[in-house]
Amino acid sequence: MSYLDYEIGAPIRDDKAPAGPIAERWDRRRFEAKLVNPANRRKHTVIVVGTGLAGGSAGATLAEQGYHVVQFCYQDSPRRAHSIAAQGGINAAKNYRNDGDSVHRLFYDTVKGGDFRARESNVHRLAQISVEIIDQCVAQGVPFAREYGGLLDTRSFGGVQVSRTFYARGQTGQQLLLGAYQALSRQIAAGNVEMHPRTEMLDLVVVDGRARGIVARDLVTGEISTHVADAVVLATGGYGNVFHLSTNAMNSNATAIWRAHRRGAYFANPCFTQIHPTCIPRTGDHQSKLTLMSESLRNDGRIWVPRARGDSRPPGEIPEDERDYYLERIYPSFGNLVPRDIASRAAKNVCDEGRGVGPGGQGVYLDFADAIARMGRARVEEKYGNLFDMYERITAENPYEVPMRIYPAVHYTMGGLWVDYDLQTTVPGLFAIGEANFSDHGANRLGASALMQGLADGYFVLPSTINDYLARAPRAEPVTDDHPAVRDAVTCTQERLARLLAVDGDRTPDSFHREIGELMWEFCGMARTADGLRKALDRIPLVREEFWRRIKVPGTGAELNQSLEKANRVVDYLELAELMCLDALHRAESCGGHFREESQTPDGEAARKDEEFAYVAAWEFRGAGDRSSAEHGPGSAGAPVLHKEDLVFEYVHPTQRSYA
Ligand SMILES: Cc1cc2nc3c(=O)[nH]c(=O)nc-3n(C[C@H](O)[C@H](O)[C@H](O)COP(=O)(O)OP(=O)(O)OC[C@H]3O[C@@H](n4cnc5c(N)ncnc54)[C@H](O)[C@@H]3O)c2cc1C
Repeated sequence: MSYLDYEIGAPIRDDKAPAGPIAERWDRRRFEAKLVNPANRRKHTVIVVGTGLAGGSAGATLAEQGYHVVQFCYQDSPRRAHSIAAQGGINAAKNYRNDGDSVHRLFYDTVKGGDFRARESNVHRLAQISVEIIDQCVAQGVPFAREYGGLLDTRSFGGVQVSRTFYARGQTGQQLLLGAYQALSRQIAAGNVEMHPRTEMLDLVVVDGRARGIVARDLVTGEISTHVADAVVLATGGYGNVFHLSTNAMNSNATAIWRAHRRGAYFANPCFTQIHPTCIPRTGDHQSKLTLMSESLRNDGRIWVPRARGDSRPPGEIPEDERDYYLERIYPSFGNLVPRDIASRAAKNVCDEGRGVGPGGQGVYLDFADAIARMGRARVEEKYGNLFDMYERITAENPYEVPMRIYPAVHYTMGGLWVDYDLQTTVPGLFAIGEANFSDHGANRLGASALMQGLADGYFVLPSTINDYLARAPRAEPVTDDHPAVRDAVTCTQERLARLLAVDGDRTPDSFHREIGELMWEFCGMARTADGLRKALDRIPLVREEFWRRIKVPGTGAELNQSLEKANRVVDYLELAELMCLDALHRAESCGGHFREESQTPDGEAARKDEEFAYVAAWEFRGAGDRSSAEHGPGSAGAPVLHKEDLVFEYVHPTQRSYA
C-alpha cells in the first residue's frame, strides 16, 4: 500500500479549551482543572524527556510543586540542550517602549504571522503568559540587556512593528537556559528530580491506552532500561535535522516524538517548516551543519543584491544606484523586517534571477555600513559583537568591513505532536511541550516566539494542566518490567538495534542522512510542487529499502557507539520524511513556511485557500509506506489516517497577509 492511499478519519477536536471571551479562557481552564493536593503530589512520578527551555522549566516547576520527576537528556549535562544556541531574543507584550504593544497585539501578530493556521485560544494564552515569563526569568537572575535608565531593553523582530523582543546580546537562549538549569539543579540537589544525562529515550510504554513509561538506552554503556511513571512529558525539540543541513544542533532528532507517534500519538502539520533567511550560505558537500546569523541583525543590517545579473564585482565597488535593496523596495512598511518566510522566498527569487552573490550565487548581502556610520562601530559591537565574531571565525571575512553573505536555511519545525489546550497528546498521559508539539505557531513561526512558547509551556501551562490529568486518571496499577507492554517496547528496541548492527553493509548512516536531507530540501524545502512531492514520495521508500540492505554500523550495542545512535535516528527520519511530503502534497495551498508553487497570488505571495484548508492536519500512524520498517515497530504497514481539526477565527479574521 502506498502512502498516497491515506484515508480521511473522523474529525478531531480540542475539547479542553473553554469557550467564552478569549481573554478569560486560560483563567477559566485553570479554575476548572482539578488539583492534586500538595501532600499527594509526591506520590506521583512524572517522566520528563528533554532539558531544553521547555523540559528544563517543566522539570524544575513540577518538582517545585512536589511531584517526583524523572528526567532525561542525551547530552552529558542538561544545560547543553539545543536551546542554548538561541541567539536573538524572546517576545513579551510588556510594552516597556510605550510603542502601542499589548497582549492583544502580540496575539494578533502571532495569528497573522502564522498565516491563520494556529488556534486562537492557544495563541492568546501565549501572549498573556509572555509577560509573566520575563518576570520569572528576571527573578532568576537572567541578565537581559538593559537600557541606560535601568529598564529591560528590547528590539524588533520580523513581521511586527513594535519593539517587544527581550534579549541578552546574541546569547538569549544560553542565558535563559542557565536560568532554567539552575532551577532544575536546585531540585536535583533536593532529590526531587532524578536526572539521567546521556540517556536516550527509544520507545514509549503504553499500558491500557495510557502513557506509563519509556524505554531508554544509556549512551555510554549501551544498557537498555525501562522507567515507569504516571505521566510522560516529551520536551524533545524539533525535527529540522530531517533536512540534514539545518541550523539545529547536530544531535537534535525526531526519535522521541516519532516513536510516540508510532505508539498512537497523532502528528500535526508535519510539513510546516520554518526556513530562516539569515544563515551563513553553505559552502560545499563537506558540511554537516549550517550556522544561523540571528534575525536581530535585520534591525540594523540592510539586505541587498546587485541590480544587474552576474555582477561579480566586490560589494564595495558596486555603487548605491546599482544595488537593489529588494526588501525595502517590495515591502516598504516592514522593509528588512518582513516575516521569515517572505524574506527567505525573496532571497531565493533574486538568486534564481541570477543576482545572488558569493560562490554559486547562493547568497545575498546583509550590510552594516549604514548602521556603523549612523551609530558607530562601538554600538554595533555592543549589540551584535558575538554574532560578528562568529561570522568572522566561520567565513574569515570581517563583517565590520565587508557585508555578511546570507542565505535561507531550515531552522525550526512548527509541526509536531498534536496536543490539546492542556498540551496532552492523543495518548492519555502523554504530554508534549516546546518545539516537540505543534501548538501555537501555525504555518510560520515569527522570530523570538519559540523561546516564549517553550517557557510558557514549561513554567506555566503544563504545571497547571497536568494536575487535572493526574487527579482524574483512574488509579493506576503499578507497572513492572515484566508487564507485556514493557516487554514489547523493550523487545522492539532491542530488535531494531540488533538489526542495525547485523546488516553490515557498505554505507554510513551519514550518507543516508545526507541523501534523505537533499531529497527533502529539493522537493519539500522552500518551494514545493505536487510533481516534486510525488517524486519524493516515490523515492523515499526506495531509500529506506536500500538503508536496510546497505547500512554499516561498526562496533557493538554494549558500548558508546555514535554510529549506532545516528543510524537509529536516521531510521526515524526515513519514515518522518514520508509523512512530511504527504502532508505537503495534500495541503494544496500556500501558507507561511509551506509554499506550494501552484498556489500564489499574482505578485508571487503565498495564496491560502481558507475554504478548504483552515484546519490542523493530525495524522494517525498505520505503518510506514512499505514493509521494510513496519516490521520493526508497532503498527501494521499501511497508509496514515488524516484527522482534521477545524480552526475557528472569532477575533482575528483571515485576510491576505500583506507586509507591503
Ligand atoms: C541557531 C538557532 C537560534 C535560535 N534562536 C532563537 C531565538 O532567538 N528566539 C527564539 O524564540 N527561538 C530561537 N530558536 C528556536 C529555539 O531555540 C528552539 O525552538 C527551542 O530552543 C527549542 O526548545 P525545546 O526545549 O523545545 O527543545 P531543545 O532545546 O531542542 O531540547 C531538547 C531536549 O530534549 C532532549 N532529547 C531529545 N530527544 C531525546 C531522546 N530521544 N531521549 C532523551 N532526551 C532527548 C535533548 O537532550 C534536549 O535536552 C533558535 C533556533 C536555532 C536553531
